[in-house]
Amino acid sequence: MSKAFASRADLTEKVVSFDRLSDNAYAYTAQGDPNTGIVIGDDAVLVVDTQATPVMAEDVIRRIRQVTDKPIKYVVLSHYHAVRVLGASAYEPQEIIASRDTYDLIVERGAADMKSEIERFPRLFRAVESVPGLTWPTIVFEKQLTLWLGKLEVQILQLGRGHTKGDTVVWLPKDRILFSGDLVEFEATPYAGDAYFSHWPATLDALAALRPAKLVPGRGASLQTPQQVEAGIAGTRAFVSELYSAVKRAAASGKDLNTIYKEVVGELRPRYGQWVIFDHCMPFDVTRAYDEATQYADPRIWTAERDKEMWKQLEA
Ligand SMILES: [Zn+2]
Repeated sequence: MSKAFASRADLTEKVVSFDRLSDNAYAYTAQGDPNTGIVIGDDAVLVVDTQATPVMAEDVIRRIRQVTDKPIKYVVLSHYHAVRVLGASAYEPQEIIASRDTYDLIVERGAADMKSEIERFPRLFRAVESVPGLTWPTIVFEKQLTLWLGKLEVQILQLGRGHTKGDTVVWLPKDRILFSGDLVEFEATPYAGDAYFSHWPATLDALAALRPAKLVPGRGASLQTPQQVEAGIAGTRAFVSELYSAVKRAAASGKDLNTIYKEVVGELRPRYGQWVIFDHCMPFDVTRAYDEATQYADPRIWTAERDKEMWKQLEA
């Protein structure tokens, strides 16, 4: 392999920010590493995505404890990816909430995904031995669930497919704050190895229709004005749409995946190459786009073995 597999060469620790977005909302972000959202209600705290391991989640808990002593009762999984969900046990939550589609994906491919992701991102699974196993939801919803944390309304919404089949966002209607999970990234490359490219733009339309004043993306800084929110959504939409139309066009003309990969990386690098994890994501993203454009409506399961075979084929 000419290029280190996935994020194995990425070993530099990032600087964490813990941003106050309102009386009820905070964002734990880390220069493009996976984010965690925090909602503080009258009687309880809700966490959106957990960090990759319980030991890493302890840093989130430490920061929550600097602003509130209310119990952390709820964890919401924006989707099933290991790097977001395997720290859940650290919060000792009363309930872990996920969409039915996310639950189904954990059943179908959670174990394969855990092994694959741990090998892709060694730095992001610090103290991986503290992970007790897969994270299982205790509440599974379809389409929409409303929680009241005292007087604070929290809407947990599945607005459509995009980054995965089960994508879930958390919306605070009073403050107009949205936690988008990986449906929106900011100055970070969208990972699309498990994506539905043809659905993603319409799902972004549904997010934008909420007219968020602030948005916490899956990766990247929290977006704190409507203009920044618009830029985050537009940037994600442009990347996903340009990548998929380039792959579709090349596949329709009968080119093979290796040729398409080189062409599409060359086409997108000038605009997106400076976003974090660009080189990590592109082989997975182009492979999935090619699958979707040709013969696989649903993403195929990534295993640690399939990851490496694909990487060798495209990066050799
Ligand atoms: Zn993800």
